[in-house]
Amino acid sequence: MPVLQKLTHLACIAGILLLPLISLAEDREQQVPRVQKGVIDLRSVDFENQLIELTGEWALYPYELLTPGANFDTYYRTWHHLPALWKGISSPKGILNAHGYATYRLKVLLPANVPYDKLAIDIPDAYTSLKVFVDDELIAEFGKPDTSAATTQPGYRTQARRLLLTADTIWLTLQVANFHHRRGGPYKPLVIGYNDVIKIKKEHKRALDLFLTGCLIMGGLFFLGLYFWSRKDKVILYFSMICIIYSYRIIGTVDYTILYIFPKLDWFIALHIEYLTLFLIVYFITLFSRALYPQEYSRKVAHFFMGFSLSCAIGTLLTPTTIFTHLVNPFLVAMLFNIVYTIYIYYLGYRHKRPGALLSLISTGVLGLIFLAIILAYFAIAHLSPFLLSIGYIIFFFMQSLVLSYRFAYQLKAARTEALRSSQAKSDFLNTMSHEIRTPLNSVIGISSLMQQQEPDADSKELLDTLQISARNLLFVINDILDFSKIESGKASIQLQPALLQQIADNILKSVFVLVKEKSLELNWRIDERLNAQYVMIDPERTTQVLLNLMQNAVKFTHAGYVRLKMEVVDESSSKLKVRFSVADTGIGIPEEKKKIIFDHFTQVDSSINRGYGGTGLGLAICKQILAQQGVKLYLHSVMNEGSLFWFEQSFTKASKPVEEVHSSRHTQAAIRAKLGTYRILLADDNPINIKITEKLLLNAIPGLRIYHAAHGKAAVEMVEAHAPDLVLMDVNMPVMNGLDASRAIRQLKDRKLAGTPIIALTAGNIREEKETCIAAGMNGIVAKPFTIDEILESIITVVYNKV
Ligand code: ADP
Repeated sequence: MPVLQKLTHLACIAGILLLPLISLAEDREQQVPRVQKGVIDLRSVDFENQLIELTGEWALYPYELLTPGANFDTYYRTWHHLPALWKGISSPKGILNAHGYATYRLKVLLPANVPYDKLAIDIPDAYTSLKVFVDDELIAEFGKPDTSAATTQPGYRTQARRLLLTADTIWLTLQVANFHHRRGGPYKPLVIGYNDVIKIKKEHKRALDLFLTGCLIMGGLFFLGLYFWSRKDKVILYFSMICIIYSYRIIGTVDYTILYIFPKLDWFIALHIEYLTLFLIVYFITLFSRALYPQEYSRKVAHFFMGFSLSCAIGTLLTPTTIFTHLVNPFLVAMLFNIVYTIYIYYLGYRHKRPGALLSLISTGVLGLIFLAIILAYFAIAHLSPFLLSIGYIIFFFMQSLVLSYRFAYQLKAARTEALRSSQAKSDFLNTMSHEIRTPLNSVIGISSLMQQQEPDADSKELLDTLQISARNLLFVINDILDFSKIESGKASIQLQPALLQQIADNILKSVFVLVKEKSLELNWRIDERLNAQYVMIDPERTTQVLLNLMQNAVKFTHAGYVRLKMEVVDESSSKLKVRFSVADTGIGIPEEKKKIIFDHFTQVDSSINRGYGGTGLGLAICKQILAQQGVKLYLHSVMNEGSLFWFEQSFTKASKPVEEVHSSRHTQAAIRAKLGTYRILLADDNPINIKITEKLLLNAIPGLRIYHAAHGKAAVEMVEAHAPDLVLMDVNMPVMNGLDASRAIRQLKDRKLAGTPIIALTAGNIREEKETCIAAGMNGIVAKPFTIDEILESIITVVYNKV
């Protein structure tokens, strides 16, 4: 059975790793002086190199609390191994079993040459109160040992006390009493040695404890912070709880380093926390492991371990110390099972290739070994090596942190993919919506402009004008939303080409001229002369979009005075040109507190006031993003009721003049009419209303045209073969065969003349995006729906003249 085999291997490796963590109790007892019949002979000990544990047969006086001056010979005495718990020690006054009191006594023979002030005794805590006398002097008192539960006070402490020797023999007397704990008696050895050596050893241990605690608290808080940022992955929360809870166990158990920080910590409180943390740590480790491997970790087993740990924790809070301290034995047995089961689960996680599972397995294995070593030490089967224990902890928490960081990064990646996916869905939705809205809008604009051409009366003309303006405004809003979503999802690319900034400025000024005139404002401009002839690499469409938006806002929010467009060259080298663009107005201004937020999408200074001005609150967000895409920042200076100034600086690479295209603007309407007079045009569109409107618009402009219809791409190809039209106006989105495929099919026709028929794409989508695909499919131009007759004629004439 391969699984069993692998588990056996794991167990062997665990055993080998466990060995350094512990050393078996017996090994430690060789060649060291031991207490025999109440005496320890240390006369030949070299204290420079050795610390001596005072273990062995101490004189024990059960149920007596004797002070050094007492006549010890008159009391019942037995020999008892120390350190050890009281378990059934019989005496005339009764059996000493956990609860009770007793005196221990030991004679220590010291070397004659020991300096009188160099020795010290390291006194550990005992269950649960202790007094230590050296000869007649009381040198330590932890709690208050006495003869009844009411008068005894339990207390924790470990302390090194210096000995001032007056002779080379000393007597140690220990009074121990316990009425508050499941265990009673001195369970740790006293140690004698040079004060310096004891001190250094204790300080090392304390430093290690504090270091580990610091690491765990920091790690815990870090992961807690991480959880609260993302609030998603409970695993991270559980791990942070494990770190924080465990940090207490490092300083609040074994050597009680916590007493170094809080010397007055009450015994009862400390004991409660010690037990609570033990139970809670297992509770959280179970939660953690189950959350990490939900498919591997059985729900029932998890509930059992969690229920058991939680019951123990509640028991700790609700019952007296004499009762809840009894919970530990059954709990440790359950914990052993928990360790084995958890390691098995992590092994399964590894086998099932869960993210970070190998590191998890190793680190949990190490933690399992640590717990095992602690349990063995608790039952006095083995001693722990504090240094290796610390390394074990560090390995566990470091590896586990790595696993969690990996997990966090993994989830971030997944969240990013998800975000991209939903942003894609959003952009697809907007694309479809805009297509669906633009198509009927095309009809509205087309029909109203057809009606305008039929010489309507004054009233109807006004209504038709309003209809036109409203439809065009709606179109701007749709375009804005679409643009914003494109830019936001990073899909709008910047397409550089040689262009003249002067030309861009001219177009913008022309566009706002009518608006400015309508409001009786002044239109000012200053364009640096160097921009008249110097071509630069620029995305003319995007720059126009930004400046036009700023200019339109300037006009919109100004009631008197002027609006001004400036383009100044602020720096020039042989290859580069840095231009400062600014748009100024003498309008209503923008309040200080709104200056930052108006660049956010859908934000307006005051939406109620703004209703009067119209707009979506997208314009500036689009400007800011278009510029940011090119590494340019948009600045604003504004004073309320005085005006606003928007400006930015952008560097351009100089370019040479591009090869000129023949442009329709060179041709007069009459020339166009003459050229296209008897043209035969194939109109391919699946929407009959669109066909009707386009046909009417074309015929109104050039009555001699002959127009054919096709309802889809396939029909269009057949019509080209059948009628050999001079030009095809091809909708991109059509059923049966779309415009792109139809164009490809036409380009493949055997007849070379037919295959070369000029094709202009009509699209309700985004021209910038579709242009390349249309050109790649063999089309010669593209026009966005809804279009005006001028736009379509200009496109036709450009294609026709370029073909010539
Ligand atoms: P909108 O479509 O609402 O104009 P914009 O993003 O272009 O959206 O502008 C956001 C808001 O910033 C405007 O609604 C207006 O409150 C304020 N704003 C922009 N330009 C100016 C300006 N030149 N003068 C005063 N307020 C302005």
